[in-house]
Amino acid sequence: MWFPTHLAIGYLLGARFRLSVWWCLLGAALPDLVDKPLGLAGVFPAYQTVSHSLVGLALVAAVFRSPTSDRRTTASLAFGVGWLSHLGADFLQLTLDGRTAHAIGMLGWPVTHWSNPMVDGSVPGYTDTLLSAVPFLSEGYLSHYLTSASFPLELLVCLVALALSLAKRRRERRSVSGRAGR
Ligand SMILES: [Zn+2]
Repeated sequence: MWFPTHLAIGYLLGARFRLSVWWCLLGAALPDLVDKPLGLAGVFPAYQTVSHSLVGLALVAAVFRSPTSDRRTTASLAFGVGWLSHLGADFLQLTLDGRTAHAIGMLGWPVTHWSNPMVDGSVPGYTDTLLSAVPFLSEGYLSHYLTSASFPLELLVCLVALALSLAKRRRERRSVSGRAGR
């Protein structure tokens, strides 16, 4: 799933369930911020590995276990919700795009390993463009993504999150100017 969509989902969950939006956003962002650089650096031959797996989820749960204060509980919950949303969203996107085996392989890493779909040819355009040094911006990858089954859904999620955040900001501005006018 595209990175902005993960942020949009993190924002929507935080706003809907009155969780810390910043912790939700961090949880929703981190799996890609960890795994994509590892894949780019060649540490693992795929972009969804340790942080996208149930192993990673167990590690996160262990780190955030036994919270010591209410504040930490709130942050842990929001972070966990954001992280889970990332895994769920990537799973849904891969499944919608007909790559269920990759989706299952992602969660089961390292037991169920799958290779990088942009290198193995199942997603075109990784190695054959001048932009291949920046795989997420390569022409083939972009056109594949824009025509994928999940793209309209992702676009809708991003637009809803954007509209809600703008409406919230407008409400906040109005209430500040209303208080100042009294
Ligand atoms: Zn991801």
